[in-house]
Amino acid sequence: MTHLANLQTAYEPVIGLEVHAELATESKAFCGCSTRFGAPPNSQTCPVCLGLPGPLPVLNEKAVEYALRVALALECQIVSPCIFERKNYYYPDLPKNYQISQRRQTLGRRGRIEIPLGAAARWVGIDDVHLEEDTGKLIHPEGAGDNYSLIDYNRSGVPLLEIVGAPDLYGLHEVSAYMTAIRELLLHLGVSDCRMEEGKLRFEANISLRPAGAPELGARVEIKNLNSFRTVLRCLEHEIYRQQQLLRAGGEVARETRLWDEVACASAAMRSKEEAHDYRYFPEPDLVPLVIGPEWIARARAALPELPQARRRRFIAQWGLSEYDTGILTTNRELADYFEATVAQGIEAKVAANWVTGEFLRHVNDRGISPAAAPVTPQHLAELIALVERGAVTANAAKEALAEMFASGRAAQEIVEERGLARIQDDAELAAVVERVVAENPSGVADYRAGRGQALKFLVGQVMKATRGRANPQAVNDLLRRRLAG
Ligand SMILES: [Zn+2]
Repeated sequence: MTHLANLQTAYEPVIGLEVHAELATESKAFCGCSTRFGAPPNSQTCPVCLGLPGPLPVLNEKAVEYALRVALALECQIVSPCIFERKNYYYPDLPKNYQISQRRQTLGRRGRIEIPLGAAARWVGIDDVHLEEDTGKLIHPEGAGDNYSLIDYNRSGVPLLEIVGAPDLYGLHEVSAYMTAIRELLLHLGVSDCRMEEGKLRFEANISLRPAGAPELGARVEIKNLNSFRTVLRCLEHEIYRQQQLLRAGGEVARETRLWDEVACASAAMRSKEEAHDYRYFPEPDLVPLVIGPEWIARARAALPELPQARRRRFIAQWGLSEYDTGILTTNRELADYFEATVAQGIEAKVAANWVTGEFLRHVNDRGISPAAAPVTPQHLAELIALVERGAVTANAAKEALAEMFASGRAAQEIVEERGLARIQDDAELAAVVERVVAENPSGVADYRAGRGQALKFLVGQVMKATRGRANPQAVNDLLRRRLAG
């Protein structure tokens, strides 16, 4: 191919992602130390996770259970027995000089996940799911003259689930949908809290470019150290550009591992691609092969909750909700549960969806709490919505009541009565307010009569303010028009 032809070639990125998720077990993968985040450095360690000579690892059953749940939800074939192996390398955050991982006989093989792409959806392959242990955490102080690093071994030995996706993603929008789908799945299964700011969900990407439509893959570059969705997307965008420039200039992409520098917003070659034999994998002699029998698998399968994509489809079919509302509701299992609990109280689904994705979610997000921890129960929210639907309170007054319900945890009716938030039903009462507003705003009245339509809005606003939002705006509008016409 000539240099000129290269310039015109359109390249297609082929991307695969590895997701590393810390599992939300209470204790570590091979010892009884706590996995709590944020404890004082090195306060949650023992001879096992410090790699001291002598002690033996004991496998955490809960970690296996969680990994199994994910593998089943990803429709993987379960490998039994699966085997733990030692991945040997030296690094200060790895005190044993090896990491217990899985390679040849991993827990789950050949699965798939459905990712939503707009109104459509597509299946993406999963190569394998395996269990390993996290490393310690290196901290590099950044003060002037600081020329040392600190190590916190609290994270050492925390169970880590690795989901190895197939190179099956062909653009950044697909990468984004894939990461979102995996995160939703983990949250739905309740196996990881996926807090990226705490490093509990991390990514590695592999990417190659090929001339659009070409069957074979180009040289593959792996990028490590990606700690958020945003970083993954930014880094891949950068890498696509870098490889494209290289190829168009007639160069070759080296098969290598690169490290992303978030601060510099650039990647640098870290080492040429390592091979599995560089790690001298061998079966972990201190752990027996792990047998996951058919009964265990059947039990785990039966305990799986409805998965996000299935729930999304059901919400649209059963409740007639929009793609948009459904997307918000099913992002978070607790929010979807909350919505369904509200509907179960007799509220029409679309009305319930509006409240749950709107005012309710706003309060929950403002407080940084989970929907299940909200002081307003689905029953309380349903009572409030019923008051609005019956016309007993206006939507505006209901919003005020909801804020108070969040603050105090009390019921809607009680707050509406106490604060006098009931809608003004009495025409005479409303007429009196209109009369007062007309008397107090002669210039607004004159403007309206002079044909300035905006003035009516102003006057309606004054009445709404005087009634603290308890009047029906349409009724106020009608009353004002009639009053000013006379
Ligand atoms: Zn320990």
